[in-house]
Amino acid sequence: MSIEAVYQRNEHHRGSKSGWLRAAVLGANDGLVSNASLLIGIAAAGRVSFLPVAGLAGIAAGSMSMAVGEYISVQSQADIEASDRQMEIDHLAIDPIGELEELTQIYQERGLSRELAEQVANTLTEKDALSAHLRDELGHSETNKAQPALAAVASAISFALGATVPLIGALIGGTSTKVTLIVLFAMLGLFSTGAISSRLAGSPFIKTVLRVLIGGGIGMAITAGIGALVHI
Ligand SMILES: [Zn+2]
Repeated sequence: MSIEAVYQRNEHHRGSKSGWLRAAVLGANDGLVSNASLLIGIAAAGRVSFLPVAGLAGIAAGSMSMAVGEYISVQSQADIEASDRQMEIDHLAIDPIGELEELTQIYQERGLSRELAEQVANTLTEKDALSAHLRDELGHSETNKAQPALAAVASAISFALGATVPLIGALIGGTSTKVTLIVLFAMLGLFSTGAISSRLAGSPFIKTVLRVLIGGGIGMAITAGIGALVHI
């Protein structure tokens, strides 16, 4: 690997840390699979005239529930980070010597000699003791700081975008081709989110795309099966 490629990889690495981007890809995937499943179920049950209303209701309900769910989960992560931070502030105020020793031992465990670990811990404590503890003891970092509102908005919008794709398929086809078009549009959408997430995660393209397609396909097949059973 050339030095430029290494730099480029690092650049890429930093970009992929943003939580809202990951939430957006997940939201789009969810929207694609859940709305496609809903629409396939309805089409397979022979209720073709319900498709537009059901599709829109699926978009509205799904993106609201995504936003709420994401907000609650990211907010509880933020609460944990805040209380850890406060605990660390208290510890540093009550027992600075013990905290310095704790930091020294962390660096020793990572492979530094006792002498070097003491030097590093002393220097970082003088500079900004709280940041050193948050980063090296608790693993907090500014780049993956929990941002509940941003995550909620990103996942709601991306869910709505994802869920719109199979609905387009449902609206353009004739009665006999609707299921095929819903599946086709959903698969195209899943292919795109798979490609994006493989880029974000730096994971192998084909493996990631196949995983997303197969996972989504199973979800849709199960609901289509239920719809067909209801029809019978
Ligand atoms: Zn500490």
